[in-house]
Amino acid sequence: MSQPAATPTGPAGTVTVRVPAKVNVQLSVGPLRPDGFHDLANVFLAVGLYDSVSATRAEAPLLTVSGPDAAQVPQDRTNLAARAAELLARRNGLAPDVHLHIAKDIPVAGGMAGGSADAAGALLACDRLWGLHTPREELLALCAELGSDVPFSLAGGAALGEGRGEVLTPLEVGGDFHWVFAVAEGGLSTPDVYRECDRLREAAEGGVPEPVAHEPLLAALRAGDTQALAPTLRNDLQPAALSLRPALAETLDTGLAAGALAALVSGSGPTCAFLAADADSAIRVAHALTASGTCRAARATSGPAPGATVV
Ligand code: ATP
Repeated sequence: MSQPAATPTGPAGTVTVRVPAKVNVQLSVGPLRPDGFHDLANVFLAVGLYDSVSATRAEAPLLTVSGPDAAQVPQDRTNLAARAAELLARRNGLAPDVHLHIAKDIPVAGGMAGGSADAAGALLACDRLWGLHTPREELLALCAELGSDVPFSLAGGAALGEGRGEVLTPLEVGGDFHWVFAVAEGGLSTPDVYRECDRLREAAEGGVPEPVAHEPLLAALRAGDTQALAPTLRNDLQPAALSLRPALAETLDTGLAAGALAALVSGSGPTCAFLAADADSAIRVAHALTASGTCRAARATSGPAPGATVV
């Protein structure tokens, strides 16, 4: 039997994994279920904003975080990356004695699945550090135990997430799409945004339809056609995010006025996502957003990006 390929380890046997943020190009939210969750039709696209998670053998569990938003990230066992390491260790009868370091570049509580990215990164880094080489399907199942968005962070590319978002079907994407992300001052809590969504729907007339993937959107992704994708973008959580953070409307308008083809709140927000015609247009939109003062920072990038990758 052939041996699994050795994973390159850095100084002191460190394994580093780079893991992307995501934007939901479609986020359709079904009615509130009795268990408190919602069924989703969630089209994820991984984009080129990354966290890096490094795992190094240690005497006891330790977690550190660097980056401008490090102070907003829990540096104890509640961190999703630490929980990922504990889960993998427990399943394999190991002690979770590892130093995890997160170099954080994904906005915190920004609707871009930063915590999920770190969980997927930690799982892969520890798997390689401990020489486990867990089969991909098992890693994806562990990711789903950690959170609805974690399997996609491992997988990357583009995928349809159903159920709570964790039942993934990879999607074909025919080209790169250019995006700008306007990062807001302060985050929004995902559970708060879902609660506000339910509250707004209770107040409105009519039932909530079962969520389904929007075929014209999938066709535009397959074709790599930005102009066709723009009018299909849709986020059912946007009214709730705008209700909790009305100033986001101005951010969305600013990006559109600067030439973005479409604008939407990313996931539960408050990060706003703008689809641009090409890389130059994305840079112009990012400059206009930064100059407007309607966001803390604006970043131009593209997607699809690869999933969690050992570097
Ligand atoms: P999603 O898009 O999946 O709803 P999000 O991008 O809005 O998530 P996160 O950045 O994942 O939000 O952070 C949500 C909360 O999770 C934070 O406020 C923080 O308290 C907690 N958290 C736990 N682990 C992490 C982590 N590794 N990075 C960031 N936040 C974390």
